[in-house]
Amino acid sequence: MLLMLSASLSRLTWRGRTNTLTNLKMGDTTVTLAVLERSNMATYITDECINCGACEPECPNDAISEGDSKYVIDPARCSECVGFFDHEACQAVCPVECCLPDPNNKESEDALLARAKQLHPDKGLPDLAALPATLSRFRKK
Ligand code: SF4
Ligand code: SF4
Repeated sequence: MLLMLSASLSRLTWRGRTNTLTNLKMGDTTVTLAVLERSNMATYITDECINCGACEPECPNDAISEGDSKYVIDPARCSECVGFFDHEACQAVCPVECCLPDPNNKESEDALLARAKQLHPDKGLPDLAALPATLSRFRKK
């Protein structure tokens, strides 16, 4: 039972993280529960990625790296370019336009700016009320 469930879990597709694995004893059977916490990530790279690498150097947060089968975005570092540009820099250079917002997992401009500030405390990024349109896609006309 444990092996079967583990094998099944390994095939799960999840753009978040597996935070904990908990073993539960049920009589003679051990069940492993994976506690999955979906990360707050609004931009992700789809399976259409052709591994060209064009997006990686464009990210102001160093959020993009080469994964096993495609490039990936670290959700803890993506601010959707809030604080830097009025567009998502990765999507702007992607030849197949596969850096997409996840409609099921939207993040607020406030949260994204807070992340950018946390990642770049030395940059003196403005507060939300003073954020110019050039530094947030949310304010693009
Ligand atoms: S949207 Fe911006 S911050 Fe997020 S991964 Fe793309 S380039 Fe980096
Ligand atoms: S630019 Fe697009 S196709 Fe190229 S590595 Fe990045 S996500 Fe993949």
